[in-house]
Amino acid sequence: MPCKICKIKPVWKFTNQRQLCNMCFVKYFEKKVKNTIRKYNMPIHKIKNKSLKAKIINFIIQNLPERKGKLQEDSLDDISNKIIYVMMYDEKNKLKNLLPKNQPLYFLSDKEILLYARIKKIKGELKRKRRELKEIDNFIQTVEEKNPDIRHNIVNALLKFNFL
Ligand SMILES: [Zn+2]
Repeated sequence: MPCKICKIKPVWKFTNQRQLCNMCFVKYFEKKVKNTIRKYNMPIHKIKNKSLKAKIINFIIQNLPERKGKLQEDSLDDISNKIIYVMMYDEKNKLKNLLPKNQPLYFLSDKEILLYARIKKIKGELKRKRRELKEIDNFIQTVEEKNPDIRHNIVNALLKFNFL
């Protein structure tokens, strides 16, 4: 099945089977970052850090008007790992720190981030995960094989759940 939009060879397949080519994926990714920033009124400010996620965020926001505040690099993978961590080991009221407020990559997975970096030739690697999160990450990855939407399900539960 070709790219749904322009009918050329796909590089990305969503869990609903929809597929995108290189350039359509880049557009989708950048739009998602910008929409997340707009929807949650996030700061627009360069991250002073050389990590891959910081470089990607800085690249996408470079032409947007600045808005005061500090951005965080957390992706969908990081956020979903942290939600499960807090649920298991920490005080539930800390969950509200994991709502979207300054994480432009909130709804994008590490896989999508790596693909975007590859297409745009942005160099770097993902940071190693802290040990206590690595364990949860491994667990979610196992579930992901059967339920590829699990990370979205976890953050959507946080967004919809009114216990905060
Ligand atoms: Zn396309």
